[in-house]
Amino acid sequence: MRTEAERLLKLYSETPGASGNEELVRKVFCQELQGHVFSADRTGCVLAAREEDPVEGPRVMLTAHMDEVGFMVQNITKTGFIEIVPLGGWWPHVVLAQGVTLMASRGRVIPGCVASIPPHQLGEGAAAKVMPLDKMSIDIGAESREQATEEFGVQLGDSIVPATKFQQLAHPDRYLGKAFDNRVGMALLTQSMRALAGEKLSNRLLGVATVQEEVGCRGAVTASALAKPDVALVLEGPPADDTPGMNRDDAQGALGAGVQIRIMDPRALSSRRLVEFVVAQAKAAGIAHQVTVRRGGGTDASSIHLHDQGVPSIVLGVPTRYIHSHHSILQITDCLEAMKLIDVLVRALDAEAVKGLTDFLEV
Ligand SMILES: [Zn+2]
Repeated sequence: MRTEAERLLKLYSETPGASGNEELVRKVFCQELQGHVFSADRTGCVLAAREEDPVEGPRVMLTAHMDEVGFMVQNITKTGFIEIVPLGGWWPHVVLAQGVTLMASRGRVIPGCVASIPPHQLGEGAAAKVMPLDKMSIDIGAESREQATEEFGVQLGDSIVPATKFQQLAHPDRYLGKAFDNRVGMALLTQSMRALAGEKLSNRLLGVATVQEEVGCRGAVTASALAKPDVALVLEGPPADDTPGMNRDDAQGALGAGVQIRIMDPRALSSRRLVEFVVAQAKAAGIAHQVTVRRGGGTDASSIHLHDQGVPSIVLGVPTRYIHSHHSILQITDCLEAMKLIDVLVRALDAEAVKGLTDFLEV
């Protein structure tokens, strides 16, 4: 289980896929879940279903977003530099001088870095300021706009993602890589769907990979219309809060403390009954978990829980340090706890349990 979790995490982490250009991630998802029945909505979200599931059972949506934060080519200067707009949330502090990969048209992968000014040439006071993203550009080594476009195939609208190799750290359970938000969710989704394939369930299990979460949870809107879920488990790589500068004594997202169960963030309140159900199941099964109330952020649950007449939804996460940067760190044992919890929940969400989540007229 652990070896497979590592393999999937590396594969998904190193696959480029900024919001709106999730093609390669989708390909991995479909390849890894061969044998499932696939359908897609019209934004590019994909649903993997099990043929053997009962048609009548409640529809349980297990979902993760495929996209990662990145940039889009906004302009190519005459001297061959690439100007950018962000796709998703970036703190400009973490962008300068980083290595990037530009996904050019015609499938060409172009390496480069974010241009920066050496300290020797920074003007008075400039070193203390944060450079805004619209003043940054990317150097792909092109001599001119013509070379970038005609020879290298770069076009406006091409996407750019961090160039970061997946690595195991000296701590044998910890890994460093890009895009763990949300490729760890994709890895959990894939491995859980595979582990449950062939098992007899009393619900209809729907594995849904969404697009464009990082630009406002957009794919989750159309994916919900496709999946029509009765309950949703949203798999994520949410921010850890056990690092310097955070309140480490009371961390709600510490590496190694287990799967994170999110009660709320500003954009979604998890169904209270679903929270109780999930926490009770985790406790009964002895699964390491940490509950969290977030002051910031938002996930696909913000779109899913408001679908149609509402869908009880909850976010299950593997706490990840330094998300929305080139280098994030997570602990694989948290992935294993998350997978155990997913397994237990999917088996427990039968018609009665799901009905109980929304039976509001019972006295
Ligand atoms: Zn994110």
